Amino acid sequence: MSPATKAAPVASLSTSSITRLREIAGEKQVLTAPEDVIPYGFDGTAALKHGAACVVLPRTSEEVAAILRFAVSEKIPVVTRGSGTGLSGGSVPVDGGIVLCLVHLNHILEVDPANLTLLAESGVITKAIDDAALPYGLFYPPDPGSMKISTIGGNVANNSGGLRGLKYGVTRDYVMGMEVVLPNGEIAWLGSKCVKDVAGYSMKDLFIGSEGTLGIITKVLLKLVPRPKARRTLLASFDSMGAAAKTVSQIIERQIIPCTLEFLDRKTCQSVEDYAKVGLPTSAAAVVLMETDGHPVVVEEEAAAMAAIATENGAISVERASDEAHAVRLATARRSAFSALARIRPTTILEDVTVPRSRLAEIVAYVEEVAVRHHLDIATFGHFGDGNVHPTILTDETDHEEMGRVEAALSDIFDKTIALGGTITGEHGVGLAKKPYLPRQFDTASYGLMRQVKHALDPAGLLNPGKIFDTETPNE
Ligand SMILES: Cc1cc2nc3c(=O)[nH]c(=O)nc-3n(C[C@H](O)[C@H](O)[C@H](O)COP(=O)(O)OP(=O)(O)OC[C@H]3O[C@@H](n4cnc5c(N)ncnc54)[C@H](O)[C@@H]3O)c2cc1C
Repeated sequence: MSPATKAAPVASLSTSSITRLREIAGEKQVLTAPEDVIPYGFDGTAALKHGAACVVLPRTSEEVAAILRFAVSEKIPVVTRGSGTGLSGGSVPVDGGIVLCLVHLNHILEVDPANLTLLAESGVITKAIDDAALPYGLFYPPDPGSMKISTIGGNVANNSGGLRGLKYGVTRDYVMGMEVVLPNGEIAWLGSKCVKDVAGYSMKDLFIGSEGTLGIITKVLLKLVPRPKARRTLLASFDSMGAAAKTVSQIIERQIIPCTLEFLDRKTCQSVEDYAKVGLPTSAAAVVLMETDGHPVVVEEEAAAMAAIATENGAISVERASDEAHAVRLATARRSAFSALARIRPTTILEDVTVPRSRLAEIVAYVEEVAVRHHLDIATFGHFGDGNVHPTILTDETDHEEMGRVEAALSDIFDKTIALGGTITGEHGVGLAKKPYLPRQFDTASYGLMRQVKHALDPAGLLNPGKIFDTETPNE
């Protein structure tokens, strides 16, 4: 197998390289002072930091292409970055490389109500996409918890999910086309506004979820859908995770597909209540946030049916939002879970293992078992309807002994997930954090295929080297 990533990182960039980058992008768009560069040395992932040689903030696709052509000619690694909210270390820089931060490519270029599409540059903030669709009565459903700060380019590169994934799917389901700067510096347009398009390989799909290792996404053409006319939010609490899981299974068995079916375990409930004071029952073993949207009559019927199913399964309480402000308060319980837990210990490690949803109660129970076995503080919340669980380890990265137990716990959780037919990451990507575990999930042929694709597109291994796969030196 050809090495997937071959770049030997340079220690720092020469003055002439910095000068050339400034000629391309402009004097002020190239940061080199340590105090300017340090904030780009990490993302949202705990315990991962590296130093970049410089940060470049281009403003056009042409500048991105020129920077990449220059980097390839000088064998300088390039790490693309959106807002740096990633939770797998995907945008953590390579020592001595260039961080290409795309936040200045931040224009919405077109909303096309006739074709229900929106064209945006990749640095546009996710929430701004839906805000731009709103005046047309249109809707962009993917809503990662980070949507007020993440970029649409980062969402596409990680194929991010959100709270509405059960009914509406994930980012991939909305990408109709994109402009990509290829590792050789060429600019390619992939996809179209056509609802049907089977001309050639679906190359856009190769770049969705490629974590900045195959090309740099500079524009994204997104599908919009009609905005739902009504929405109903409910919050049910249970004295066991099993009763909550049974409620979720029965909702789906009765062919109700809510837009949101999220859960919090006891520890998460307690910490959210402590933090956000939304009135959560802190004695409950599990709380489930349910949201249905669509035609007003159907929404009312589905909300009533979900409340009845929760009650049949012994819910301690079922709270129905009476108005929009009440709905926002209930949803805050779930949306603030990460922030609430992050206050407890110095380091918060948020995982996103995913299992077929019929196995969700098993993986949640297993995480509890692992916490006891390794003497760790682990809270769990996540997307019940998608089988996507966020075991969140509250720890301290400076305590080496405890971090050893954290690694052992993660290894156990990943093995169990794979044994249950699941995946080590449902939405955050592999990046650096999950790279060691990726081969456990794939057979030799499929793992090798991914590396062949990387090598075919980026033979010099300069785009986000060392992410997803190990960086190998040219002699290996
Ligand atoms: C509080 C919080 C809540 C979160 N909630 C969710 C959630 O609900 N669902 C979810 O899926 N994730 C969630 N995340 C993770 C994260 O926000 C997403 O992965 C998001 O898509 C990252 O966007 P970003 O702009 O910050 O990208 P970055 O973190 O900057 O980059 C992420 C990856 O994409 C690559 N990349 C970025 N831009 C481009 C581009 N234009 N072209 C090519 N490659 C690119 C980078 O190299 C890197 O590998 C959450 C994170 C936080 C901190």
